[in-house]
Amino acid sequence: MIKPDGVSGNYTDEIKRIIVEASFNIVKEMLTQLDKDTASAFYDEHSSRSFFPDLVTYMTSGPVLVMVLEKRNAVSDWRGLIGPTDAQRAKISHPHSIRALCGKNSQKNCVHGSDSTSSAEREIKFFFKDVVSG
Ligand code: ATP
Repeated sequence: MIKPDGVSGNYTDEIKRIIVEASFNIVKEMLTQLDKDTASAFYDEHSSRSFFPDLVTYMTSGPVLVMVLEKRNAVSDWRGLIGPTDAQRAKISHPHSIRALCGKNSQKNCVHGSDSTSSAEREIKFFFKDVVSG
């Protein structure tokens, strides 16, 4: 997912270029505006964290681009490509990562990636009920 800061910062084309260059296939995509309930449900695992209200405000601040990416080892390869959660850290430790390119800090980090195949399955179903992941 390209988060609101990535979309509004006009990073979509560059991120897609990186995706294609890394041999991912973009199976589905959808530009959508998350409402409070949807953003809260998507990040439900973080609902008890102190940053959760700010996270929901951030995720509802503008449109997001949700994509289903296909490739062998897609989950780990995408996590590698986006870099660590904290974009400030990414700029130092992973300067060529997507979060180093367009993230700002530990919250505004430009992109999301599923952290396991099971969360990828959940998240794909969350947005695209008709896509079967495997
Ligand atoms: P994502 O799930 O979005 O790919 P991640 O797996 O790298 O990110 P998580 O720990 O799952 O990181 O946190 C989810 C999101 O919550 C982060 O991407 C970030 O936007 C926000 N977040 C995480 N930690 C903090 C923090 N300490 N302060 C503010 N926001 C945070």
